[in-house]
Amino acid sequence: MRQKIILREVGLRDGLQIHPTFMATDHKLAWVAAEAAAGISEIEVTSYVPPKLIPQFADAAEVTTGSLLIPNLLVAALIPNLRGAQRGIELGVQKLNFVMSVSHTHNLKNVRREPDESVADFKSIVALIKEQPVGKRPIITGGLSTALGCSYEGRVAVSAVVKRAVQLVQAGADELVVADTVGYADPIQVRDVFQAVLKEVGHVPVAAHFHDTRGTGLANVSAALDCGVTRFDASLAGLGGCPFAPGASGNIVMEDLCFMLDSMGYDTGVDLGQLVQVREIIAQALPDVAMQGAIARAGLPHNYQTAAQRRAA
Ligand code: ZN
Repeated sequence: MRQKIILREVGLRDGLQIHPTFMATDHKLAWVAAEAAAGISEIEVTSYVPPKLIPQFADAAEVTTGSLLIPNLLVAALIPNLRGAQRGIELGVQKLNFVMSVSHTHNLKNVRREPDESVADFKSIVALIKEQPVGKRPIITGGLSTALGCSYEGRVAVSAVVKRAVQLVQAGADELVVADTVGYADPIQVRDVFQAVLKEVGHVPVAAHFHDTRGTGLANVSAALDCGVTRFDASLAGLGGCPFAPGASGNIVMEDLCFMLDSMGYDTGVDLGQLVQVREIIAQALPDVAMQGAIARAGLPHNYQTAAQRRAA
């Protein structure tokens, strides 16, 4: 039995939020549908922030309801606060990805809250979810941004990450995401942080969110795999960044991540050939966007068999 890995596409949120051109709703939904058809089982389709703040998400309602019609897909969305959670619940989204930063300055700039206030917000969100009828309660994920470095404060203490992880789990998080928001992390640091977090809250799933800003993205995935992490965020063509973290750009590339995991013998459930083709939707919808990706540049190795081809053989 190959170890199953859950891959979550975050490009529609993390990638598009810094892109100045609005991607048409139909194109977003085509992207979601095509990636789901290629085998990606979870997609963060939008963010419930005020459109005034990020106009790219003005169609959050349409993108959510449209995505919910796509088969075999867990539809997630980012929420910065209680208001975002209310919107998500009204829309029937299946997973809410709450985000706070471990570093004080980044949290102030990103969500205009003290980290302790964000933890209090998270408790209110969990309470709101528990008020919903069983069956209408979205999964709630606690996201820890800047957990491996901050563009304002530099190094972030492992103990600070563990402290927030424990607080969010005690408050009722179903899952955590530990994020290298600005792409500072190295594999040794990843091992230290994830081992420390998993030691305290390993009874809930802990996912990893890496950026490849400085070229360490897939090496960090390998280090997280060694710690037992089996859930990873990535974005097609490596779209991504953070509007409040100067210089941050590029989530790890979904296609390259898939290739690496597939080659290592993990079961991603993704058809890599089909996944690479989804890039066309982005290329046509946003001709001015920077697209990354080693597999797209170099092609698949000679005689490479996708998971689907191996199954059929
Ligand atoms: Zn990110």
